[in-house]
Parts: sequence; structure tokens; C-alpha cells
Amino acid sequence: MEKSLKTENKIQNEKCYVYSKEQASKIRCEFSRLKDLCYLDHAGATLYSEKQLANIFTDLSNNIYSNPHSHSSEFTKDAVDIVRYKVLSFVKTSPDQYSVIFTSGATHALKLIGETFEFNGGTLAYLEDNHTSVLGMRKFASNFRELKVEEAFNVLSNPADSNSELRNGKNGLFVYPAQSNFAGTKYPLSWIKTVKCEALNHLFATPENWYTLLDAACFASTNQLDLHQYQPDFISISFYKIFGYPTGLGALLVKRSSENALTKTYFGGGTVLMALSAQNVMIPKPIIYEQFEDGTISFLSISSLRHGFDILQTLNLTPDLISLHTFNVAKYTFANLMEMHHSNGTAVAELYHDTKFESVKTQGSIINFNLKRPNGNYVGYSEVLHFANLNGVHLRTGCFCNPGACQKYLKLDPDKVQNQFEEITGKLVNIYVYPVKSCAPLAVKGSWKLTHIGLEYDRRWMIVNSSGACVSQKKIGKLCTLKPILDFSRKMLKLKINDSEISMPLEPEENASSNANFCNSKVCGDKVQGFDCGNEVAEWLSANLGEFGLRLLRQCDFTAHTSGRHSTQGEQTLMSLANKAEYLVINMRTAQWLRERIPQDDLLCLTLESILLRFRANFVVDFTEPFVENDLAILLFNDVAFKFTGHCRRCQMICIDQETGEKSKEPLRTLSKELNGQMRFGIYLSRNDSLGQYYIETGSSVKG
Ligand SMILES: *Cc1c(COP(=O)(O)O)cnc(C)c1O
Repeated sequence: MEKSLKTENKIQNEKCYVYSKEQASKIRCEFSRLKDLCYLDHAGATLYSEKQLANIFTDLSNNIYSNPHSHSSEFTKDAVDIVRYKVLSFVKTSPDQYSVIFTSGATHALKLIGETFEFNGGTLAYLEDNHTSVLGMRKFASNFRELKVEEAFNVLSNPADSNSELRNGKNGLFVYPAQSNFAGTKYPLSWIKTVKCEALNHLFATPENWYTLLDAACFASTNQLDLHQYQPDFISISFYKIFGYPTGLGALLVKRSSENALTKTYFGGGTVLMALSAQNVMIPKPIIYEQFEDGTISFLSISSLRHGFDILQTLNLTPDLISLHTFNVAKYTFANLMEMHHSNGTAVAELYHDTKFESVKTQGSIINFNLKRPNGNYVGYSEVLHFANLNGVHLRTGCFCNPGACQKYLKLDPDKVQNQFEEITGKLVNIYVYPVKSCAPLAVKGSWKLTHIGLEYDRRWMIVNSSGACVSQKKIGKLCTLKPILDFSRKMLKLKINDSEISMPLEPEENASSNANFCNSKVCGDKVQGFDCGNEVAEWLSANLGEFGLRLLRQCDFTAHTSGRHSTQGEQTLMSLANKAEYLVINMRTAQWLRERIPQDDLLCLTLESILLRFRANFVVDFTEPFVENDLAILLFNDVAFKFTGHCRRCQMICIDQETGEKSKEPLRTLSKELNGQMRFGIYLSRNDSLGQYYIETGSSVKG
């Protein structure tokens, strides 16, 4: 966080405790694995308790669960049915009113409704603030209509009275979330009734017969869903959002009186009483969940749910208590974020909200915000995530599963969203090749060839000491002043230190593979093999670097020897002498960010360029924002694709001035301080398709 925060502002400090001290400490015991981590991603996935997991383990290790379709398995079937009852009583209803269809999650429940709802030419209407999985239902309806939030409040506040004869059998389906997964807004459950009373027919020329699908995936995790009071036709939920475990399990609840609006076409194992193979004949099972649960249900996961319900009881936790507790935490955080200002008076956080967190009836426990710098610029989400993680706070960042709300709150133009969608873009500013390992780089102007072992000529040579081990700048600081120059017209490699220089052939001589000058060395524990480049250059190196017995090795080109060999060992030897993977990338903006944090007195010689050189990257990319590189999985340099393989952890090597070989405390000290000792800086990339001719060029666009 910026250091210039105004501290004299009175921060809201009013805390309301919902749980008693004993209860709170019992709860804390169940999550001892969190240690000091502050987990704030319960809307993404909540955490399972330790006792809950232990009970599941005991249950599964002591009982014999078998496939519920095997007739000998009444035990499993009963266990599953008991869970159906528990689910129903959890949402205050009974098997007379609702059926539970187990699904792989809320998304699957939504999809099932999309596939089976008899629209009969009717409309799919949905609130703009909806999960992506709801938008996917559009494929199944012939018409769809998005309702803006304000419009929904207007239209759904008064029921209509349409002439039922005009309906033509069209079925309309209205889908909305009980709680927004974006801003935590709770939408009125009274809408269920007004929709039933045809309020939406105000919007359509021909009246339709309306049903409601309530997406309760987000709501049910921290609220009491009360199906006694409100009776949507269909409800989707995911259990990991309520109990943390098991994942991959959700449910579609169907109001029994609305079952006939659904028609199942596909039938899978377990859903039919009888089916013929040659003729198109089958008799579905009579009970709706039996028809809808295709294949073998996830019976072990379903049985495990019981322990989720039980643990709430053990801890005396009711949904209402959870609701109030999480609301209070959110309210407290909201108030504090609102209050925080930079010293120039500008707000630190921009919050996206519909309510002012005044009532648990209209607001759930989700807070959505952006952070801003004193000059009003946004802090990118990668940076926020990075620092939250460093400080033991687990957050959710990005804008993924609710496109409508993203557009609404961030006031994004849909066309722009389409153009940019979550793409990280940048420009390749510099390409550096390090022909001799640990020596000065060659800055590439224009394009450079990629080979199967990295950039052409990158780390093809290395200097070894009298015992044959590769030397680095840690041992000989002056190495960075050794400048290799590739002279392609004369096919020579020239080495230069100050005014002294020496040349040798760029490619090994024809007879070089004779055993005489073939030798082994080690780079960071990995064995590498190479050819000795002779006495003349060895003596020159020793004289100019001031160490006895140095020799130059050129790495073997293993292509001929290892073609067709794909063992991991083979691949390792194929890698050039670079430390880890083939390419190291740094983001210029992250370096700039670091430089801005170095104390003035130490900044004297630390130009941005000097800092960039110390990180010894192959590619320097300008991503326009710091830290975005840390989250990329795939990078495209023009059309050449690279894969993320790891983060680069830094050591005192970055303290060596690459022009002079002198050592300083910075930038390591600041890096360590700012990143709490976790010195990740830069990412390693590798390429999958190593066949073909590829070139990479400075100035090319980079997409992640
Ligand atoms: C999480 C969520 C979903 C999707 O749930 P899955 O478990 O990913 O299938 C749908 N709607 C809302 C409101 C959610 O919060």
C-alpha cells in the first residue's frame, strides 16, 4: 500500500461480534491449518473444517459403499436419500414440495434447465447481473432478453393480469441470482411471486407463462434459503461453496408442481426402467431425480455431504448466524476501505456496490473494489494480488464470472470488452543474447533466430576454472566486462575486455569431435559437455580476468546425437547453458516499480537500464503495468507461442553492476524488503514446438 496514506482519518472501528468467544475459538480450531493466512475467498470456495474431513474419512473407511444402481446396495441408496432429505430440510422444505437432483455443480444445474425447459417459443429473460453460466443458457431458448437491474426493480414491483387465453402455450423463464457474485447485492426474493403473477408480461407483446430459476449458488453459501417462504420453480446450488468439500457436486432443486415444464430427451444409465437397443423404445424411471441423474451419481461425495451438515450443528452454526457474521466482516471492511485516503486527499479504493452495507437483508458479504494510486491511476489486479499474497491475505482478483455486472459497475462499453477481453498486452523492447555464460550480453537489433535450445548462440560458450567447473560472476565479478561479439561475415566469435581482444571460429572445426578436446563440466549441478576452445584463448582469459587456469568451452551441439531421444535427461542436456529454462523474461514496468522504491541515496548509478541489465533477461517486455507477467500461462510474441515454466528467484547476482562489475546493496535490499523476502522477479518461458524456423523481433507485440 502507498506509504502516503492519511492516518489521522478516523477509521471505523466498530466491531460487532456474532459468535460467542467459545464458539469463535471452536471454529478457529477447525481451521488451524490457516495459521496466519487471512482467507477472503469464501465466495470462490469456502474451506472445509478439519473435523468434517476426519469424519468423512472415518465414514468411508468403516463402511462399504457400492454402486447405488446395484440392487444389493440399499445401504448406499439409503445414505444418498438421507442426504436428499438433509438438503431439503436445510432449505426449509420437504420431498412433497421439492426434488433434489444431484449435479456436478450449479453450472450443471443451470445447463440441465436450459436443456430440458420447454420454452415452446417462449423467452429466456435474465438479469444483467448474472453468472456466466446463466448466459450460456441462451443457446437453448429461441428468444432471450436481458433485464437491466433498474428495469427489473421497476417491472417486478407490480404483478400483471394478462389474459391466459392469449398465452399460446409459450413458457418464459426468468433467471436471477439470489445474491450477486460480483457485488454481493441480494435481489428481492419477492420477485419469484411477481414473476409467477406475470409481471414480466409487461415487457412482451404476447404473454407467456412465467417460471423462475433462482441461482442460489452464491446466496446459499452464507444465507438461509427458505423455500417455505419463497418458492422458485428451479434452484441451482454448489455444495463446495457451503461446506468446502466435496467439490464437483451441486444440486438442481425442482418444485414438484413445475416438473412438467421440463422434458428430458437424453437418457443415460440409471435413468430408465427399460430401454431397447435396436428400437427407439425406453421407459423412464418415474421419479424426476432418477430421470435426471444420468449415469452413476457421485455417491461417495453425496454421502460426504452429511458431515458438512453435521459440522454446522457441532459448531452451533446456523445459516443466519453465518450470514450476520460475514455481513459484519464485510461491512467493517467496506467502511474502512471507504475511509482510506492518500495524503493528497484522493480515495484509495473505488468500491463497486449497490447498497451501503446497512442491512443484511439487501447486502451479502462480498466486497468488490479497485485500488488507486494518489494520482488516480488504478493499481493493476496482479499487483494487488501479489501484495495481498505477500501479506498473507488470500483474495480473488480479476473479472471473470459475471460479465454483465463487470460491464455495469466498471461502465465498460461492450465493444471494448469484446476487443480486450482479459488480454494482457505488451511490447518486446529488448532481446539479449549471452553468447558466453555469465559474460556481457549482446543487445539484438531487429530479429533473432530461435533454435530448439533457445535463442541462437545464447550461452553456447562457458568459462571453466582449473578444476573444470563453470565460473560465474559470483566468483569473478569482472566476467560482466567480457564482451562477446558475433561476427557473422567472418564467422568468428570475438571476445573483448577493455582494449584487449581475441577471435576464434564461431562454429567448431570439422575434426573437433575428436576426443582430444572433448570435456565435461557442470552448470548448477547439471552435467554439460563441450569442446575446449584451445590454449590461446585460455591464456588470454586467465591473463585478462586475473585467474589462473581458466579455459573456454563450447557446448556440444547434440542435435545429431540425441535426435529421436525424448527422455527428460535428453531434454536437459539439450538445453543450452542457461541456468534453468530456455528464456527469461522481465517486465520493464516491474523494474520501474522496483526502482521507484529504492531510497534516493542509493539510486545514484541505478538507472532503469542498469537495473534491467542486472536481471540478465533474454526478453525485456513493456507490459504497461507491473507484475502482470507473474500470472501468465502462455505468451505470444507476434505468433510465436511460449509457455510459462516458472518464476525466477533472485540472489545477490543482481547487486553486480553489469557495466563495471562493482557490487552494491541495491536493488536486492529493496526487492527483498518490498517482497517480504520472496524474491520472485521475472519468469521463465519455454517453447513447445521446436520444429521449424522461428524468429523473434524487437518491437513485436506480446500477448498473454
Ligand atoms: C459460483 C456460482 C455459480 C457457478 O457455480 P459452479 O460451482 O462453478 O458450477 C453460478 N452462479 C453463481 C451466482 C455463483 O456464485
